[in-house]
Amino acid sequence: MVFSPVAKPSCAALQFAPRETWNKVIVVTLQALQTAPATTGGDTVRHDWTVEEVEALFALPFNDLLFQAQTVHRAHFDPNRIQISSLLSIKTGACPEDCTYCAQSAHHNTDLEREKLLAVEEVIAAAAKAKADGASRFCMGAAWRGPHGDDFAVALTMIEGVKALGLETCASFGVLSREQARQLKEAGLDYYNHNIDTSPEHYKEIVTTRTFEDRLETLEHVHDAGLHVCSGGIVGLGESQTDRASMLVTLANLPHQPDSVPINLLIPIPGTPLAEAAVERPDPFDFIRVIAVARVMMPKSYVRLSAGREGMSAEMQALCFFAGANSVFCGYKLLTAKNASPGQDRGLFDRLGLKPM
Ligand code: SF4
Repeated sequence: MVFSPVAKPSCAALQFAPRETWNKVIVVTLQALQTAPATTGGDTVRHDWTVEEVEALFALPFNDLLFQAQTVHRAHFDPNRIQISSLLSIKTGACPEDCTYCAQSAHHNTDLEREKLLAVEEVIAAAAKAKADGASRFCMGAAWRGPHGDDFAVALTMIEGVKALGLETCASFGVLSREQARQLKEAGLDYYNHNIDTSPEHYKEIVTTRTFEDRLETLEHVHDAGLHVCSGGIVGLGESQTDRASMLVTLANLPHQPDSVPINLLIPIPGTPLAEAAVERPDPFDFIRVIAVARVMMPKSYVRLSAGREGMSAEMQALCFFAGANSVFCGYKLLTAKNASPGQDRGLFDRLGLKPM
């Protein structure tokens, strides 16, 4: 039997159809879904999402939401490929900001050992090792309010050196001026990470030393300098479902959706206000829903399953990938927190048939 989207077989005919015909039916059905209106997971990149619409996505039955997210995902990405980044803290602790989840803030009493800015050679060696472990992007994070003085000049040299290894480069140095963003671009930076953390409404409960608007301004400078934007948020900060929707609306409605969207699960670190407040852990299915909704709203962005992965079962990570996550951090450490080891990751990717991009 010849099957085409024009001459559709009847249900009765399909009942006895070979597997190949069924596969074609599934492909055509998925294609139809992909070209459906964007609110049902279509192909269009929208910048006019409302919180109510996003709450409706969250309220979908789990299977319906995951099907929709997977459909959108397949329209834009190879579902069996995963982008791997590696993240190194190039300057640790004593940060003047007061982010209530962060071990590196000078405002909190954590056991973290502070470290001055690493030497350029040390960073290049770590980047070479990350490349050998399969990373395609090397991210450098510094616990600064923003880059400054001689340290910024050294950081620019690091970026040049990492780029020369043939890796994509990413930096997370805090608030940036327009000129600093330009200098980073000139040094060979590809991505700049600056998370919005949470919704504009919940933000003041999480950080008081810089405003939500400061963050958006930095994202604008990053984009205007021609850098790829990496921006996402954290689940588990005591936020409501409406906050999660509002956070995703903020990201998706940016004039240019972030190229990379890290979704973090809070790691409660003793000594940080959020850990001390013993904020309730999110239901794992709610976390997966955030990944799925992010995928539907930002169809062309890499959605990164980021901090908190080390504590997730293989099955939960697999569901996150099915929900549209297609990027992870590899390496034993994620800034100052534990992360899944490269060996564990390779094992999991092999079991799932996932290949690095
Ligand atoms: S999250 Fe970044 S800006 Fe906030 S305290 Fe930690 S290192 Fe500083």
